Amino acid sequence: MTGRRELYLQEMGLGPVWRLKPAAAEPPSPLDIQSMDSAELEAVVANCTACVLHKTRTRTVFGVGDENADWLFVGEAPGAEEDAQGEPFVGQAGKLLDNMLKSIGLKRGENVYIANVLKCRPPGNRDPLPEEVARCMPYLERQIDLIRPKLIVTLGKFAAQTLLGRDVTIASLRGKIHAYRGIPLIVTYHPAYLLRTLQDKAKAWEDLCLARETMQGLSSVESTII
Ligand code: URA
Repeated sequence: MTGRRELYLQEMGLGPVWRLKPAAAEPPSPLDIQSMDSAELEAVVANCTACVLHKTRTRTVFGVGDENADWLFVGEAPGAEEDAQGEPFVGQAGKLLDNMLKSIGLKRGENVYIANVLKCRPPGNRDPLPEEVARCMPYLERQIDLIRPKLIVTLGKFAAQTLLGRDVTIASLRGKIHAYRGIPLIVTYHPAYLLRTLQDKAKAWEDLCLARETMQGLSSVESTII
């Protein structure tokens, strides 16, 4: 309604005029998400209201790195510092992750992409709820389709269980090469856990060595085929 019309109605004693609030934009369906490019996907994630976490987040945390990376590292969900900065693994756990990458000759942003299962911080760093995972997974699935990494490394129980669809311990998943939609996947501990449990750092080192060997094997198979 125009301002002038509103004015006339008010003059006639017919105000105030109540308007229907525009409906919130519907979140895109998983099918829509499957056809998005990276920029569209990031914009949709930035405006996502598909679950309650949008009410408490400061920023969404889409992911960081080389969009053509061979390596994809997947964590659980942003923490307080990631929520403030909009980048995954920037707190203490992130510093350790950077050192873990360095230990096998990798560097954040160079042939490496880092993402989380959830793009918003669960308040108080509580565990993600199944409904939140269900709403957010199509974003990670699309990221994986677009990046097409040669190898995925999951960080912590939550990411491993979610990508493998298995409710089992990290201990039972470590030391093996799994697959996520045909992409080799290796499981290791979450850096935040390793900060608290120093004795498991040696096991994480074994996992990283397995990941490095697996990648070397994949690259040499590829160069033989070419
Ligand atoms: N923990 C995660 O799983 N992801 C982050 O980005 C930060 C901490």
